Amino acid sequence: MGEFELIRQYFRRAASGPGVREGIGDDCAVLQVPPGQELVVSIDTLVEGTHFLPQTPPHCLAERLLGAAVSDLAAAAATPAWLTLALTLPQADPDWLEPFAARLAERCHQLGIALVGGDTTRGPNLVLSAQVHGWVDAGQALLRRGAQPGDRILVSGTLGDSRAGLETLLYPDTPSDTTDWLQQRFYCPEPRVALARALRPHLHAGLDISDGLLADLGHVLQVSHVGAEVELGCLPLSDALCQRFPEQAQNWALSGGEDFELCLVAPEQSVERCLQIAAEQGVRLTSVGRITAAQGLRVLDAQGRPQTGMSAGYDHFKEMS
Ligand code: ADP
Ligand code: MG
Repeated sequence: MGEFELIRQYFRRAASGPGVREGIGDDCAVLQVPPGQELVVSIDTLVEGTHFLPQTPPHCLAERLLGAAVSDLAAAAATPAWLTLALTLPQADPDWLEPFAARLAERCHQLGIALVGGDTTRGPNLVLSAQVHGWVDAGQALLRRGAQPGDRILVSGTLGDSRAGLETLLYPDTPSDTTDWLQQRFYCPEPRVALARALRPHLHAGLDISDGLLADLGHVLQVSHVGAEVELGCLPLSDALCQRFPEQAQNWALSGGEDFELCLVAPEQSVERCLQIAAEQGVRLTSVGRITAAQGLRVLDAQGRPQTGMSAGYDHFKEMS
């Protein structure tokens, strides 16, 4: 199968959407940003052996690639619009391409993003890059800077599940519903697009958690020139994580990585409203600590005592890879 045939057969199906004047097929896509909006852009790459295990099912890769990329749009409080996709494939294998393209189209549809172009090449290893483009009201993109002393730190969903899902893939044992759920959290991140957009007017800063809460919160602190206290007892942990990995749950929630949940910073007086909005959307939102004028990141136990050995650099995932 030639390159053009491959593109026509597999990647045309998620090709329409708002603002697409020319999609797949010409030298460039021609795209129109609505008046009063700004374009936000982010790119993510998955490399076989580095970001995913060889033999990972193709539909899982489609979910993971798109989920991780669109999570960056959510972190900016943007609306997803367009996707470009660069694929490096060892071979044009229909048994791989068909399930990958089918799930990609399905997720594009669910996330409201149109595939408008890309590049397809042959190479020794599977490498997948997704560039995502979104819109945000001019001047309203949610940024990492802007956290102020006294603000509260809010986290969406639950943390540590994805790291646990990876553990069950690396060291498989008896499959169970818990295992399936944790693996789903690893493979299929659910970008918090609607939540971020609804909360945006009430927020000072935010980002998505890809390297672990401590590491990513550290980025907010650095660019906002503030510190923070995180309360161990407040971390949102799923029942599945606590049941399956009671010993590691807390550490993975702090530093596991690949959660693709949001870490948001809101002034004290907006917290109630934020919690209400999240509840209306049926999304868990938890206050896990606060921003301080004193620099540095402190993790406090239930008695308010600072824990040692839990700096932002503590990162299981990095140690492994
Ligand atoms: P060019 O040689 O100009 O780079 P290509 O032959 O690579 O063009 O691609 C032809 C068309 O197919 C372009 O519109 C390109 O954006 C699109 N395309 C190529 N690969 C993909 C892909 N994996 N997914 C979506 N569109 C693709
Ligand atoms: Mg090309």
